[in-house]
This record gives sequence, C-alpha cells and structure tokens, in this order.
Amino acid sequence: MTHRGLLVDSHGRTLRDLRVSITDRCNFRCMYCLPETEAAANFYRGRWAQGGFHPEPITRQWVPRSKILSFEEIERVVRIAVSLGIEKVRLTGGEPLLRQELDKLVRRIAAIDGLKDLALTTNGFQFNEKGYALREAGLRRISFSLDSLDRENFRKITGRDALDQVLESIRFAQKLGLHPVKVNAVIIREVNDHEIEALARFAAAHGLTMRFIEFMPLDSGRAWMKELVVPGKQILDTLCARFSLDPIASDNLSETAKRWRIRGSNAEIGIIAPVTEPFCGHCNRLRLTADGKIRTCLFSVTEHDLRSRLRGGASDEEIADYLAEVVWDKEPGHRIGQPDFVPASRSMSCIGG
Ligand code: SAM
Ligand code: SF4
Repeated sequence: MTHRGLLVDSHGRTLRDLRVSITDRCNFRCMYCLPETEAAANFYRGRWAQGGFHPEPITRQWVPRSKILSFEEIERVVRIAVSLGIEKVRLTGGEPLLRQELDKLVRRIAAIDGLKDLALTTNGFQFNEKGYALREAGLRRISFSLDSLDRENFRKITGRDALDQVLESIRFAQKLGLHPVKVNAVIIREVNDHEIEALARFAAAHGLTMRFIEFMPLDSGRAWMKELVVPGKQILDTLCARFSLDPIASDNLSETAKRWRIRGSNAEIGIIAPVTEPFCGHCNRLRLTADGKIRTCLFSVTEHDLRSRLRGGASDEEIADYLAEVVWDKEPGHRIGQPDFVPASRSMSCIGG
C-alpha cells in the first residue's frame, strides 16, 4: 500500500473519521429510527393529524446476507482508509452486537497500524454477554443509546422492555474499564423531553459522558416533523436551570457536540444539534454501509458502490483512488428545513449513525 494522499473534499475538509455499519439488522424498533411498533404509529398518527405533508415511508427490506461485507472486506477498507488519513473508526449499525463473533472484527481493526481510536455504538441489549470479549479484543470506547429511564417510556421508544438490561450493560462497560462510556439520548418533543433532567442526573451519579441529540429526519417511517425537534438551545436551557455547567473548551472544530462538565461530578454532558445548529462546515466523517456503499453525508441521496470493486479484483491502490475521488464530491452540508430538502434514501439503521 503506497498511497500517500489524504481524503480531502472540494470544500477543503480533510476526513479523519470513518463510521462503519456492520449490519442493517436490529433487535430494537426505536421510534426515531425504525418506527414499526403500534406505539410509534399511534404517536405519529396523532401528530400528523395536526396537518402537514408526509412522504412515503421507506419500505424496509433487510439486505441479503450475500451483500453484507465480510470481516476481511471491512478490515481491508479500514486499512486503506487509515492509509489515507482516517484516524477514528466507529462500528455501528443497525445493532452491531447482532453480528456473530464481532470480537474477531474488533481484534482485526484494533491491530491496524496508524488507527488512533476505535469505538462502538450499541443499544446495549447484548453487551453483558459480549462486552468482555470485545474489551479483550481491543475495544476501548463505547456509546450506548438510552433515551429514557422510565421502563414504560423506554419500551414505548425502543419497542423492547429492556431498560434493565441496558442499565446493566452501562455498569458493566464501566467495570470493564472502557472509557469514556458515552450515553446517547435522542430527544423528541412530548416523548422524552421531560426526562432531560433525569438523564443528566443519571450521568452525574455514574460519571458518564451524556449526549443529547436532536431528532433528525432519518427514520424509516419518514415520520419526522420539525415540531418534534427539541432544539439544542432548549435542552441547554433546561439543564442550566437545574445544574451548574462549566463549558469544556475544545480546539477540535469537527467535534459534533458542544460540551460541559456538570459541576461537582465526573460527568460530562454534550448537546448535538445538527438540525438547528448544523456543523457541516467542519464535518470530517465518511460512512461505509453494511452492504459496502460509501456515503459522504448522513443525508446523501446517492451512494458509491465500493462492494463491486472489492469483489471485482480492484487493487488497494484502486480502492484508495476511488475513495479519494468520491470524497472530493462530499456534499457541502445537509439542507434540513430548506424547501429543496430531499430525505436520505435509507434510514439511520441502514446508514449507520
Ligand atoms: N443500534 C445502535 C444504537 O442504537 O446505538 C447503533 C446504531 S444507531 C442507528 C446509532 C445512533 O443513531 C444512536 O445513538 C441513535 O440514537 C441515533 N439515531 C438513530 N436515528 C436517529 C434520528 N432519527 N435522529 C437522531 N439520531 C438518531
Ligand atoms: Fe436499532 Fe439503534 Fe435504530 Fe434503535 S437506533 S432501531 S437500536 S439501529
């Protein structure tokens, strides 16, 4: 591998962060991602009745297994991407823990020379079973999704009565010494905005890194409405009314979260507000889907077919050139809220958050 270029786009951004979705399957049905439950349908139906146009839902079909990249193929892409300046890799999905023998993939990727950071995003349901092997294989950082601390509300949001398992997984990750243990909560108006304070208290009590995330139009039901977005500013106001927050300075412009320390605790909170305060100008992320497509933006309407090249005999040099070529045309930014906004062709569960 002799390629020495970096992944630079035509807007001058250098990409350092690769998100790898390793499966499109999931054992949850979160109402902001795969809203297929009765509870989600009831909630959205009620809101739609208040007016507004809704595009057709995305018809979800699981990607056939033959099209899902193997561990060897994923490792190869990551290795080539690292040779092009990628420093951080996050494994995601769908639910990445559904992939059999995930620890083997983690071990392969953790061993790639030049990779500085390997993390995993999970709903946590199976982490108790698999966490030890993942840590032993080289996983150091983890993010859990946890949108509610109320058992019924958790079930309504995720479609699964699994709050206790997820809380246990968070404790187990801390016990294993993974650091930081991050917790992501997508905040939806009238669903869990009343739990912002409780989630921050939970983070403070357990020394967690908490992220509050604005709801983005990436659900398979195309049910998103701007009225359901709780703006980052409002989340911050809610927190400031209850906690003393000390801002955490950062010179990393591509960071998605604005961050604060909760005074008197080890906890950090961050707000990710892609809808109301887009950070596209400094975006340094690239995405590989489970079926081997490259996406240059969460909201891309076109994907770039890497799988056919991987399976068609392309050399590492050719793959590197192809990555550099598609990255050059990375979109300047998303257009959520603009009249010409076109929803992404696939849901978050397929793209990899
Ligand atoms: N299944 C894993 C999980 O839930 O953590 C990993 C995949 S999930 C697609 C990755 C992240 O995307 C999660 O933190 C989830 O909360 C977030 N997400 C999914 N749909 C979203 C949406 N419509 N808006 C904002 N965040 C979303
Ligand atoms: Fe599954 Fe994660 Fe999407 Fe929830 S957010 S449905 S856990 S992929």
